[in-house]
Order: sequence, then structure tokens, then C-alpha cells
Amino acid sequence: PTYTKDDIRRVAKEENVKFLRLMFTDLYGTIKNVEVPISQLDKLLDNKLMFDGSSIDGFVRIEESDMWLYPDLSTWMIFPWGNEHGKIARVICEVYNADRTPFLGDPRNNLIRVLDEMKELGFTDFNIGPEPEFFLFKLDPETGKPTTHLNDQGSYFDLAPMDLGENCRRDIVLELEKLGFDVEASHHEVAPGQHEVDFKYADALTACDNIQTFKLVVKTVARKHGLHATFMPKPLERINGSGMHLNMSLFTKDGSAFFDENGEQQLSDTAYHFLAGLLKHARNFTALTNPTVNSYKRLVPGYEAPVYVAWSGRNRSPMVRVPIARGASTRLELRSVDPSANPYLAIAAVLAAGLDGLKNKLEPSKPVDRNIYSMTEEERAAVGIVDLPSTLHNALKALRTDEVIKDAMGSHLYSNFMEGKRLEWEAYRLEVSQWERDQYLEMY
Ligand code: GLU
Ligand code: MG
Ligand code: MG
Repeated sequence: PTYTKDDIRRVAKEENVKFLRLMFTDLYGTIKNVEVPISQLDKLLDNKLMFDGSSIDGFVRIEESDMWLYPDLSTWMIFPWGNEHGKIARVICEVYNADRTPFLGDPRNNLIRVLDEMKELGFTDFNIGPEPEFFLFKLDPETGKPTTHLNDQGSYFDLAPMDLGENCRRDIVLELEKLGFDVEASHHEVAPGQHEVDFKYADALTACDNIQTFKLVVKTVARKHGLHATFMPKPLERINGSGMHLNMSLFTKDGSAFFDENGEQQLSDTAYHFLAGLLKHARNFTALTNPTVNSYKRLVPGYEAPVYVAWSGRNRSPMVRVPIARGASTRLELRSVDPSANPYLAIAAVLAAGLDGLKNKLEPSKPVDRNIYSMTEEERAAVGIVDLPSTLHNALKALRTDEVIKDAMGSHLYSNFMEGKRLEWEAYRLEVSQWERDQYLEMY
């Protein structure tokens, strides 16, 4: 919604808002917030509020730590869960440097920059419909800490009483609706304790803001039910992990640029070029769509997550699927993304990949309409199917080679990301796992 400064002043008074939560997202996708009392509202609305950015991951050095927060008024929202001291409202902010230029280490500003490049090519919107999946685990009643005990043994689309998470999920949906979300579906996912809530597509920037708000709501509501909600990609071995499929489409002022009544499979040339760009850069943007050590435990055969770079109009095993809907709903579903991704970074990268396909009129490989998991390595090689990176380390190596994806991050985000992720990988390498001891302790 569009709000003027006066709208916000009026609503804040009417609703007795006492605190303002100013939100932005750090390099790793974590929501950060600075809370100020309502007395600071005028200062905020006039872009006169500063904060110290030096302690934020991937932000700035000590000597240049003062930064401005510019509120994006369209993201104003009053939280339904009150506080005994009065209501809390949030607004998502753009981070600006002390000299009032946009701070390019802010992943949200960076996405705005990439979207501007898209607009120069004649498109109005990059629409994203996300499908975030998550697990609900029990909280330890004594310590209040999350456990890995599942709270149900349900499965895909099960109903209560199998699905004990159902009440919690219903509450999540109700809270989201109070916040203005258009929830399209919510269901139990394949694994026990696993859930999915789908909300309506939106332009890329709004979709990212929605994903961040969604995670906050899910975690807050779960806690009230004595549960911990996690978006960790693969919390338990040998059952499905959690993905965050992205349904995407480009729009011009005339509507969907992906639909063409007369095109092959009713897809436009634009859709095919965009798809080809996705496939070309897939290995190299995986570090952004799947940014954690754990992400790669999900990208293995047999658990409905993609492992190979391929596309299909039917099968669910490839990385990109074209759902059958056409017209304005024509879209590409990218299935590799997981919910540990920073949405602003991941979406900037996939957009840049698709646009590169368009600019260079790339053609996609042939669709693969069979189960790729059951193809042999030779069969895959024969049709040119390559693997997604198997580890974070390999994904970072691939990213390093790709100027298009690096440009989509900008140099500030790129260098901080590479450094932070290198340290994450190094830390992981120092650990010796129980699997290794079980495997080798007696064998050698
Ligand atoms: N949980 C699966 C994944 O890891 C996706 C299941 C589905 O198709 O919704 O991506
Ligand atoms: Mg799903
Ligand atoms: Mg899906």
C-alpha cells in the first residue's frame, strides 16, 4: 500500500503505537532491527535517523559506521501481537551512507539497482511467487531451547489429528492475513514436522520483504505453540529438506512477457532466453540461492530437491519446471533455492542470469521429461546435463568465475560474501563428524 507521511502519523496515533521497529537485512539474510520510541517518528519520516552500522555483518568498518535509515513507507505495518506497553509498528528501511548516497552493502538497495537495469530493458516487473518450506520442532520445556524432536508424524496434505502442527499453521495463516498477506495455500509437506505456506506473488522487492516478514511471523507464532520453526535447509538426514521454490515471470506494461499463444508450448522467446540464462549461470549463482554448508545436504538425489541443471515442462526432478498455467500465470519455477538464502541477493542473481540470457539471445537445452535421478551418468552426459555444485566450497569456486553474477552483487557485497563464506567453510572443515568416526574408527 502507498502511505503518505501524514497517513502514518495519523495511524500511529489512532492505534496507539509506542515503538517503531526499523528493519533491514544483513548480508546473510538475517533481519536486523533498530527499535526507537514513537517520539522519533518525525525524525524517521524526514530521513534524519542515524544508526551505527559497524556491528552489522557485512556492513562497514568502525571509522565509517554512522549510517542513515530511509523508511520505505509502503512497508509500514503494525504488528498484531501487542506489547503491554503499547503497539509496535515496523517499517523496512533503505540504508544510506553518511554522505547520503545509497549504501551498496545493503542487499535490498542492491536488488533495487538490478531491478533498475531490468527496467532499462523495457520490463516493468519481475514477479516472484515463493514457496517457503519449514520444520516445526518441539521446544525443550525446561530450557526453552529448540530440540530436533518432531511434533507430528504427518505427511503430505495430511489432516489432523495426524498433523499436530495444524493448529500452529492455522495461527500462522491468520496472523499473516492480519498483516495483509494474501495466503493462497498452506499444507503439511512430505516430511514429518514439515510445512509449507504459499502466498501470492508480488514484484521482486515486495516479495523479498514478504519473505523476511513471513519468517518472522512463522517463528513468532511457533514459539507461542511451544515450537521452534526452522528454515534450515536439511535439519534431518534421510528425509526431505526444505526448499523455497521461486516462481518467476517478467512483465511489461502489456502483461506477461513469458506467454505467447503461438510459441512452442505457448512460451515466448523471452521466456526461452530467460530460461537459457538461468541454466547457463545456475552453477555459479548456487552459492547465493543455497548459501550454507547445510544447503548441499539437501541437494542430493531422492528427496525432491534438484541435483542437476536441467528443465522440464512436466517432471519435478529438474532444477527448473514450467508449471502448466499459461496466460498471466505463465512462469518458470526454480526449484533449487532454499530458505537459508538471502532473498534480496538470490533474486538479484537469478534476475541477472535471466537477463543475460535475453541480452545474448541464448537458447536453452532440450527439456528433460523423465526422472533424472534414475538416469545414469552416461545418459546425463549424453544430453548435456551438468550437476549443481556438491558443496559450498565448490559453489564459491563457481561463483568466482562468473562476472554476470558478481556484477549482480556489486563489489562490496561480493567481497564480504566471499570472505564470510570462506570462513564458514573453513570452520566446517575443522569438524570431525560422528559419521566419520562410525565409518573409520574401527576400520583403520
Ligand atoms: N521439499 C522439497 C525440496 O527440498 C520440495 C517438495 C515440493 O515439491 O514441494 O525442495
Ligand atoms: Mg513444497
Ligand atoms: Mg513447488
